[in-house]
Amino acid sequence: MTDVSTRPVRTRFAPSPTGYLHLGGARTALFSWAFARHFGGTFILRIEDTDLERSTPQAVQAILDGMKWLDLQPDEGPFYQMQRMDRYRAVIADMLAQGTAYYCYSTPAEVEAMRERARAIGAKPRYDGTWRPEPGKTLPPVPQGIKPVVRFRSPLEGATAWNDLVKGPISIDNAELDDLIIARPDGTPTYNFCVVVDDWDMGITHVIRGDDHVNNTPRQINILRALGAEIPHYGHVPMILGPDGEKLSKRHGAVSVMEYDRLGYLPQAMMNYLARLGWSHGNDELFTREEFIKWFDPAHLSRSAAQWDPKKLNWVNAHWLRELALDDLAARVTPRIRERGGDPSATTDLPAVLALLRDRSETLEDLAEGAMLFCGAYVPADDALRTEVLDTDALALLREFHTQASALQDWSEASLDALIKSILKDRGVKMPKLAIPLRVAVTGRKHTPSIGAVLNLLGRTTVLERLGSTI
Ligand code: GLU
Repeated sequence: MTDVSTRPVRTRFAPSPTGYLHLGGARTALFSWAFARHFGGTFILRIEDTDLERSTPQAVQAILDGMKWLDLQPDEGPFYQMQRMDRYRAVIADMLAQGTAYYCYSTPAEVEAMRERARAIGAKPRYDGTWRPEPGKTLPPVPQGIKPVVRFRSPLEGATAWNDLVKGPISIDNAELDDLIIARPDGTPTYNFCVVVDDWDMGITHVIRGDDHVNNTPRQINILRALGAEIPHYGHVPMILGPDGEKLSKRHGAVSVMEYDRLGYLPQAMMNYLARLGWSHGNDELFTREEFIKWFDPAHLSRSAAQWDPKKLNWVNAHWLRELALDDLAARVTPRIRERGGDPSATTDLPAVLALLRDRSETLEDLAEGAMLFCGAYVPADDALRTEVLDTDALALLREFHTQASALQDWSEASLDALIKSILKDRGVKMPKLAIPLRVAVTGRKHTPSIGAVLNLLGRTTVLERLGSTI
């Protein structure tokens, strides 16, 4: 069990809205959300929209849609960094006043030259501290016409260490860290600085995020210390790899969460599958939201990168399709049948149709496709299929079936199966001899689910009509 600080748990998901909610982001959100839920804490959504060139309202909406679909509702937020600019500027002003930050008038060209000089002697390329105030140091005269940046006065000695919730103890020598720019010449705050002020103001106790942020963490911790803020716990989750071991990307298929909605995956299946990517609870593969919250403990987050496995996702989805109430399933499949030009009311019992199909379906799209047998236009078999399947013997069997089926009192799956069996017995033939011609005559296809069930669900009138026009 992870040791949680005495402060009430507050976690956040802080996406940059530059496209859509991708799988990696969704998984980070899921872990942050589950952590808050597990410890009875608060989950906050913060939109990091300061990159004006890449952030769009559509991208913000895509994130909100994705989180809503996964049912990861924040308790607070969304907060938007662009609406907090005044606060960042105020903190920068305080830091300048306190001497934990300073104006730096070095031009970008000068900083580049400093880096070059450092490289030339085999040192780490960095800002050389020209404008950094030190006791007893005289700073150069302020040049005219140059708008300064603001730099953080980073500690020069010692190390910045934290016990990562996922990766264990990490320590970075402060000598490795530059005096970070926290405000640009036009006064706008930079990325790491906004994150720090937000985590501080929002009282974040646990930061769970992708391990592409590990390098930012010591910088953020140092600024938080300079502000006198409590340092959150950090947990950096390894990235998701594609099936080929490369970083998961569009090359591997859909990477947007909402694309999985379109492809017919259930949100509870996505949640279940994403949760297992980099986290485990024994050998449990299938679990509900409630179980996940109960079981979620960052101690069981994996240190190694997880691999995306589309087959396993399909398996998880197929499981949750079978768990859903049939009426609920029907409501989800109905619009997908319409999209295919089908009429969901063409069958009187869509839930029964889905019950028949779902054992062999992995997605809502599979179900909708299968349901077209009952909801789509009837396309009689083409000549090639007729010639292949409906020979003289087959037609004779179909005539026999038509006659007896017309007289059938009870049009149920059981009595249709019984009728088929009795005809097979009388004629001394095996099942495919009758079942395949029946399928071709009644559905125009050679392959369908169990023929008795199909005949039952199509209904007496339709079956006799289609048979009548075939024989
Ligand atoms: N906005 C950052 C991102 O989308 C996350 C920042 C953080 O979690 O600290 O990668």
